Amino acid sequence: MLRRTKTWWSGAFVACISVLIAVGVRVALEPFGHFYYLPMVAAVMVTALLARRLSVILAITLSIIANEVMVQRQGALDATVNAILFAVVAWAIAEVCRRLGGALRTARALTRDLAMREMLLETILTSVPIVTLDREGRTQRVTPAAAALLGVRREEAATLPFHTLVPGFDEAALESARQGGEVLAPSPGFWAVWRPNACPVPLTIHANVLPDDIWPEHIVLALAEQSQSEAMRQRERDLTEKLNSVWRLNSMGEMAATLAHEMNQPLTAAAVYLHAGQAALAKTGSPADEATRALDLAKAQLLRAGEIIRRMRELLSTGSRSFTEERASQMIQDLDPVFTLIGRDTDVTIDIQADGDDDHVLADRIQLQQALTNLVKNAVDAAIGQENGRVSVAGRSLGAEGYEIAVEDNGRGIPTDQRDSIFHPMISTKAGGMGLGLSVTRSIVESHGGALTVGRSSLGGAAFTFRLPHSQELDAA
Ligand code: ADP
Repeated sequence: MLRRTKTWWSGAFVACISVLIAVGVRVALEPFGHFYYLPMVAAVMVTALLARRLSVILAITLSIIANEVMVQRQGALDATVNAILFAVVAWAIAEVCRRLGGALRTARALTRDLAMREMLLETILTSVPIVTLDREGRTQRVTPAAAALLGVRREEAATLPFHTLVPGFDEAALESARQGGEVLAPSPGFWAVWRPNACPVPLTIHANVLPDDIWPEHIVLALAEQSQSEAMRQRERDLTEKLNSVWRLNSMGEMAATLAHEMNQPLTAAAVYLHAGQAALAKTGSPADEATRALDLAKAQLLRAGEIIRRMRELLSTGSRSFTEERASQMIQDLDPVFTLIGRDTDVTIDIQADGDDDHVLADRIQLQQALTNLVKNAVDAAIGQENGRVSVAGRSLGAEGYEIAVEDNGRGIPTDQRDSIFHPMISTKAGGMGLGLSVTRSIVESHGGALTVGRSSLGGAAFTFRLPHSQELDAA
């Protein structure tokens, strides 16, 4: 409709036919009066709508000729004035018609474009689970995929408040959706829909806010079944677990030689004391004080050796995580022999100060001790070569806020611009360092609900700090 002719001759054809019809109309109207140029104006308008300017000029010229032939004027002046007047008015009308035609054509193209976009959008929306809400959180639109995911009929869903479709989506969640981004489920847990006669389906909800209030829809919620993202997280956990065990094997392998040497001393001492005790007993025939003491010392040394072996075996055991209620100060104190091992053959002094009041935390003891061991090992490495090399391991109870542990040293410290990168795996400044310790340590701390931070220590070097939640805090969550 209203397509403009492309060639000059088709334009000329339109002009001729239009003027011919106008002349016919004018002849037909003759008995009713003189209409002069009036029917010709219509011919010019049609030509302007369907053809180019040249054809319009042709239509005007033909109209003037036809009019001159059909109407006997008073004189040449009258005829010329009428012809000029007609030409000016007809040209002006033709221009308006041309613009109108152009506008109509643009509007048609836009309508077609919009219709196509809408079709495309509809096709996409059909397969994507999306729900829109108004400002007050009332459900406005539910796509077929969202209805299927929520286990309801579309018409039914659009009449229900969203929190009846996804339990727990309360005012706080709505407020969070108004900010955009992922809408987190109340902790602990996940969004879930309860389809009739089926297991709950875990969901993630991502919100987008429409920029203005033209439509009642204000918030667009994209729903996704969590199984896929959950599977990815599981894979991430598995990889971290594997990384953990690689790290354990590596660092424990390094320590194995030192450990064997260290164990040798108490075992040898025990053997000597026992031997002396036995000799004394043999001489007197009855247990003398000296003999009793020697036997006691032997016993203590043997126990210590057993303790060291036990702890090492625990650290080497599988990375499976089991949270139990632990006393944080005890966990730190128990590492004393391990720290002694780490500081052995160095001039570094390791101080332990662990506040024993209200220090109950939920923790995987083995993993946390592994994290602490790593921090202390790094701190000792950093303090080596410093005058009065010092490392401090301090535990501080924060009451209901949990328990804070800080490992500090008087080494060279960590430049501000490296405080992020040192946590990345495989970043190490040590010859032969694997660069895994801090990344594993951070993931252990995070799996306990804490965050490992690094800063400057009052001792002069680095300070690594993290907080373990109080066991009651986790119980209540
Ligand atoms: P690795 O000990 O194998 O190098 P880590 O991940 O434990 O791996 O440490 C990464 C890097 O972080 C170290 O190479 C070191 O440069 C830096 N770093 C860690 N702890 C300290 C510290 N206490 N003082 C200074 N630098 C440290």
